[in-house]
Amino acid sequence: MPKLRVGIFSFTGDEGCVITFLEILNTKFFEWIEKVDFVNVRVLQKKVSMENIDVAFVEGAISTEKEVAKLKEIRQNSKKVVAIGSCAISGAPSNHRNLFDEKTRLEILPILERFHHREKVVPLSNLILVDDQVPGCPIIEEKFIEVMEKYVKEMGGN
Ligand code: SF4
Repeated sequence: MPKLRVGIFSFTGDEGCVITFLEILNTKFFEWIEKVDFVNVRVLQKKVSMENIDVAFVEGAISTEKEVAKLKEIRQNSKKVVAIGSCAISGAPSNHRNLFDEKTRLEILPILERFHHREKVVPLSNLILVDDQVPGCPIIEEKFIEVMEKYVKEMGGN
């Protein structure tokens, strides 16, 4: 059986969810490596392919037009997209600037414009279809394992 082709991507956030993924690998790496091909995972220094991804796990909210384009590219190339962590699912806590008052918003405006930020920070589901989610801030380890192993069973690696 072919292995499940997995990508893990980060957008606006503190990468706490991806750090938790690395902690999960302390116990799961040798089991999963038999069934999972990590084809695009920056923290594993694997950026081989954006093509034919079975499952893309995506961390972080979306705050720039560059991120919108990248997220849409991921969606186009992935059979399933899983939002991992609160930032990706709801936008929070990375979306705090959405609630700034007008005075504070004007203060940060030069920074937003300089780095091509969008008016609002949004969750993934505002921009693309999201198939699944792993809640938590950072992600709940057991839930991530459950979702990964569900797709291994459904889509490959058996
Ligand atoms: S959900 Fe929490 S841990 Fe994950 S990237 Fe956002 S702030 Fe960090």
